[in-house]
Parts: sequence; structure tokens; C-alpha cells
Amino acid sequence: MYSVLNPADEQLVATVEATTADEAAAAVRRSRVAFESWRDVSPGDRAMLLRRFAEAVDGDLENLAATEVRNSGHTIGNARGEAANVRDVLHYYAGAPERLLGRQIPVAGGIDITVREPLGVVGVIVPWNFPMPIAGWGFAPALAAGNTVVLKPAELTPLTAMRLGELALEAGLPPDVLQVLPGKGSVVGQLFVDDPVVAKVVFTGSTEVGKAVMAGCSAHVKPVTLELGGKSANIVFADADLERAAATAPYAVFDNAGQDCCARSRILVQRSVFDRFLELLEPAVQGVRVEDPSLETAEMGPLISAAHRESVSSYLSDEAPVAFRGSAPEGPGFWFPPTVLAPVRPVDRVAVEEIFGPVVVVIPFEDEAEAVRVANASVYGLSGSIWTESLGRALRVARGVESGNLSVNSHSSVRYWTPFGGFKQSGLGRELGPDALDAFTEVKNIFVSSEGAT
Ligand code: NAD
Repeated sequence: MYSVLNPADEQLVATVEATTADEAAAAVRRSRVAFESWRDVSPGDRAMLLRRFAEAVDGDLENLAATEVRNSGHTIGNARGEAANVRDVLHYYAGAPERLLGRQIPVAGGIDITVREPLGVVGVIVPWNFPMPIAGWGFAPALAAGNTVVLKPAELTPLTAMRLGELALEAGLPPDVLQVLPGKGSVVGQLFVDDPVVAKVVFTGSTEVGKAVMAGCSAHVKPVTLELGGKSANIVFADADLERAAATAPYAVFDNAGQDCCARSRILVQRSVFDRFLELLEPAVQGVRVEDPSLETAEMGPLISAAHRESVSSYLSDEAPVAFRGSAPEGPGFWFPPTVLAPVRPVDRVAVEEIFGPVVVVIPFEDEAEAVRVANASVYGLSGSIWTESLGRALRVARGVESGNLSVNSHSSVRYWTPFGGFKQSGLGRELGPDALDAFTEVKNIFVSSEGAT
């Protein structure tokens, strides 16, 4: 048993039984047995069950959201959106089973068709920063394609995933089709990697652990989808709507207290408007409401844990060029105020490493070429934003930045019906959108001869 704390007040929220390696191995074998019948459920019935699962999530939305507020310190507004995202992703992929089309390819002497086969047992490993959406991005398309799923939530944030597992059963999914196994990464997660019965691993988390997962999967030539870290650039050109760029920049990095793989944690500003941009940014940062995340007005909550606050704090040494900070509550809870470091050089540690907290660096650049060079001077490439009134520049820079998800004059990057994933060390493969099913199926080619016996 281990304790789960509320990061906003450090009070005990629940105690959770950690799955042992033997229990996880047994769950994987049950999953494999369930797969034999789940794959044969007719496409229409599989679609109906996923729609019912989506409706069960919708019916439990307030409870799921309140649970996430207590377990993860997410603001109630965000937590509702995250539960709704699971519902929407389930509805979206509920449209997939009847549309999992193959092809018929012209050949001589018969007919040649391709079919999409499910892989078997899929292991989904989830980080603590977005426990609900990231679970859903894995299990919804995997189940729609006819796979069964074993899912390991992060140790710190297992509660909503456990509830989603109950809702799947209440909605009528057969037992063992979706199993949620809370526990340690080094035990349950590692078992997904090592156990040959697990046919595929979907891992979201740090680049460091992701590399080890990929290396482990290679021993079995086991396919793996990786969604890893980020250090995304928010590039502001002198011709941009500076007021809007500055007013929105804090929310592009401080949302979820900066614990967001897509956080635009490097703001690159053209030197001619650098001072003006900082003048506009300061009131915007100070206006971010950092407070009890269960309040409807909260815009940012605490960090996830004491250890993580230590890690974020380590970036604010005495030499750190703190330009200005927002506010955060005093007292219990893992609070950390929004913090702006400026000016920062692209080579500084704070500009290179993923801090994963409410700390943003502001870096000046001279021209378009330098902006692209600095944006790409990172091992990561997950998301980013480009602010300019020039369409040509927006397109040139968007094509030049090595990143999987970019937005122009906006900070949006994740929609369940568009592909999401990273370049470089931000990941491997794409989730969401119309092509996610490819990652959960194998293409089989079948030739049927028209020669021979009648
Ligand atoms: P983490 O790598 O520490 O843990 C992620 C998950 O992996 C947890 O469930 C953990 O228990 C498990 N794990 C740990 N050791 C393992 C092992 N040896 N084998 C298998 N599983 C193991 O990451 P975290 O601290 O929970 O999450 C933060 C990181 O996740 C950040 O780097 C962030 O950028 C990244 N992230 C990326 C995306 C994306 O879509 N690209 C989304 C969210 C978070």
C-alpha cells in the first residue's frame, strides 16, 4: 500500500495497492485470453460498447474532475476538460471499428486483399501530468482496433485511471479487456516492456525513461510509441500583435503549473520589441490566478510533489536572471509562483533543459534565420507557436521549425482529431487523429488464387 497526497494541501487522499510483478504478469495473461474474444466482437458491437463507455465517462464527469483536482492539483476547469477529452476520444474512435478498411490490389490469377489485424495485448504507460487524457489517447484507439489493454498510471496519480477502469466495466466492456494496474514503473511498466505476451508498448513520460523503454522493447522487436519531453519555442516577431502575444504567453507555459510536455517554455522575441514585450508580459504574468485549484476562478494550481518542487527550484540559483514573478499561496501545498527569466542565452541550462514547472525563459533574436536556428537548438521538438502578421513568414518558419505541432497566432496544439507527437527526442510515432489506428494494427496481405479445383 502507498499513500496518495493532495498536492494543494499535502493531505492524504487515498491509499493504493501497488500491483506486484506476479500480479501484473497474471493480468497480462488474462488480457491475452480476453483478446481472443474481443478481437472477434463484431465491429458494430465494439463501436457500441465504446460509445457506452464514452457515455459512462460523461455521466461521471464531475466526479472524475473532482478526483483529479484532489489527486493532481489540476484546476477544476482543466480537470473537467480532461475528463471530457476522454469522453470525446472514446466517441471519436468508436467510429473506427466499422471503418478499419483494407485494400484490394490488382494481381493476376486471383485476388489480393489487405486486412488490418489487431496486435494483441497493448501496454499503456502514463505519466502524472495529464493522467486522464494520456490514458485515453492510448486505450481508445487500441480497443477500437480490437486489442486489449493493460494500463499503468503514474504512481503519484492513479485515481482517475482506476475509476476509468471501473466505468469501462459498468459500460459493458468484457472483463480484462481494459485493466488498470497501479504500481511502480520499475515493476509494472518494466514488465510491459519485458513480457513477450505484451505486443506493443505506448509510453508517455520523460525522455530518459523513454529511451530505456525503447531499448528494452528492441529485445523483442516490440513496437513502441513514445511521447516524451519538450522545450518548445514561442516565437514572437516584431510585426506580431504584441498585446495578444504577451497576454496569451503565460497560459501557454504556466497552464498545469508548467507540467505540460507542450509548454512553450522558451519565448523567443525579436530584439527590436524585446523591452516592449517584457513590459506587456509582466502584468499578464502577475494576473495569473494561482490558488486553490478547486476554486472556479483558479488558473494554476500547485506542482505535483515536494520532490518535483525541489527539482524546479534547483533551476533558480542566485545567478538566475529573474525578471519578475507572479504570486502563489503560502503554507502547505507544493506551490511555486510563475517565474520569468530574462534575458537568457540559448546555451544557458535553463534554456536547454525541460524544467517542467512554471518557469519561462525569454531569449532575444535578431532576424528570422536566427529565430529558426535558436528554436531548433534543442534535442526536443514537440510543439511551438509563431506570432507574426506576415503569412509568408508564418509559413516559412512553420516549415523550418523541427517540431510536431505548431500553431500560428495561437497556442493550440492538441485536438483529438488531428495527429499529435514529437520530432527528435520528443518522441516516436503519432497519437490521435485519423491515423492513430495504424499504430495499433498490423497490415496483413492475403492472396486468394482463382486457379485449381472448381
Ligand atoms: P517518467 O518517465 O518518470 O514516468 C512516466 C511513466 O513511466 C510512469 O508511469 C512511471 O511509473 C513509468 N516508468 C518509470 N520507470 C519505468 C521503467 N523502467 N519501465 C517502464 N515504465 C517506467 O515521467 P513523469 O515524470 O511521470 O512525466 C513527466 C515527463 O513526461 C516529462 O518529461 C514530460 O514532458 C513527459 N510528457 C510527454 C508528453 C507527450 O505527449 N510528449 C505528455 C505528457 C508528459
